Amino acid sequence: MKILVSDKLSEEGLEILKDAPGFQVDAKDGLKPEELKEIIKNYDALIVRSATKVNKDLISAAEKLKVIGRAGVGLDNVDLAAATDRGIVVMNTPAGNTISTCEHTMSLLLSLARSIPQAHNSVKKGEWKRAKFMGVELYQKTLGIIGLGRIGTEVAKRALSFGMKVLTYDPYLSKEAAREIGVEASDLDGILKNADFITVHVPLTDDTRHMISDKEFAVMKKTARILNCARGGIIDEAALIRAMKEGRIAGAALDVFEQEPPDPNSEIFKLDNIITTCHLGASTEEAQVNVAIEVAECVRDYLLGKGIRNAANYPRIDSELYKILQPYILMGEKLGNFSSQIIEGGITGVDIQYSGDITKYDAASITMAIVKGLLTPILKEAINFVNAIPLAKSRGIQVRETKVSVDEEFVNLISIKVSSDKETREFAATLSPKREPRIVKIDGFYVEASPSGYLLTMKNWDKPGIIGNIGTLLARHKINIAGITLGRKEAGDVAVSILNIDNPVSPQVLEQIRKLENILYVKLIKL
Ligand code: NAD
Repeated sequence: MKILVSDKLSEEGLEILKDAPGFQVDAKDGLKPEELKEIIKNYDALIVRSATKVNKDLISAAEKLKVIGRAGVGLDNVDLAAATDRGIVVMNTPAGNTISTCEHTMSLLLSLARSIPQAHNSVKKGEWKRAKFMGVELYQKTLGIIGLGRIGTEVAKRALSFGMKVLTYDPYLSKEAAREIGVEASDLDGILKNADFITVHVPLTDDTRHMISDKEFAVMKKTARILNCARGGIIDEAALIRAMKEGRIAGAALDVFEQEPPDPNSEIFKLDNIITTCHLGASTEEAQVNVAIEVAECVRDYLLGKGIRNAANYPRIDSELYKILQPYILMGEKLGNFSSQIIEGGITGVDIQYSGDITKYDAASITMAIVKGLLTPILKEAINFVNAIPLAKSRGIQVRETKVSVDEEFVNLISIKVSSDKETREFAATLSPKREPRIVKIDGFYVEASPSGYLLTMKNWDKPGIIGNIGTLLARHKINIAGITLGRKEAGDVAVSILNIDNPVSPQVLEQIRKLENILYVKLIKL
């Protein structure tokens, strides 16, 4: 695997890549666009910060490229659509600077409450105006957090430890998510009217641009103070200036601006009660090392086939959540692949049902893995996590997902009903207490098989001697049986059997099995 690192990356990140087996890492920052375009065709992975422009032109020359890693969050320098079209995964490192940005928010919160920068400047000038810098306590005040994602959540935890009451607004999260961290979910109006401090931690989108403007300032408390450590433009700067001038709110702290760097003559800098920093949220030594390590690990793991994380053109999973979801993702892919090898005819739809533990999480990545698994036997290398769902759609395959919080039999269960133009079949898998995947149901028959290696899947009459006959036949061909599972609904009726075997079975041997007494159907599956 050849990895090109075309911007400066902390040594800690480079070391991770260099230590990976079979990786050749070239750290070449400062290349001109035409130089980069010339050499990119040789590389499997590209790692950048913000300087390298990964545009359509560059991507079209990247014949072997599988993954682009961005050490940091912003993807303004990467053409996501072009990468997705080529099936190239784009990963960033949104979690690496969470704590730094949260701590910066807390610094600004305290600075706002106690006018620290203003007092510092005053003392430096030789003044001693204690009355002028009378502050307010955070204790028992209400903090309104808009956007309860990674940073918002960390800010909430710290605010609670200061004895603040925390109200949150995040319409994409359930009320339970807020309750779980001990804060109260509110609507936006509730925050605007009741909060003493308001902090925004949402992405900048069409919905969030100027989400705090004249109308919102008008309903805030006159003593309210507002912070933006997210993205410039979420707070309407012109409206903020008006609100401050008219005394409609008491103060503001901005780390980010609509235009960066901002115009030094902006009114913002003439107002005493606005404190500012220069987009420093992520600027700590730790965050820089964190993002380098995070991007290196994500890219390495992806190239080694150990799964996909933090992909921007793939559902975002942070490291903690990935640890929880990874076995389900692997299981989902195997279940999809297994089903696809069994079902006859062209697949037209898949109904996925998640039940038990797994329903607490966003299952989009598992759905994607199931679809990838389903299409892998059909499309091989052309299918990947990035293009699985769009490809399924373009092939007319309907993908439906439902969740049932409890399953009566299994702590967690993924069931899929796969329909084709010929038949509809049902399969289900669960994670064992050791977090190992098990296929546990086929068409309503209970089985217990490990979805790995070679599996002989059969339907047979439930009669004595069948397994013995197959065992003898396989032994004759030196094929070892590693595990057997047998499921039946009624004694003597049809049964389903799965044999995990150590080596593949030739078509001739398969034909001999098919001809054995009481065998209705047999298929060799390879996972
Ligand atoms: P995140 O994706 O973990 O969380 C964002 C949250 O906002 C999500 O929970 C989402 O549901 C919510 N949200 C989206 N639209 C919303 C809306 N209209 N109303 C209310 N909630 C909404 O992101 P994060 O890592 O916590 O980052 C938050 C922000 O901080 C981002 O804008 C990010 O770019 C910015 N950031 C800034 C710095 C800096 O240097 N100042 C550093 C890192 C991140």
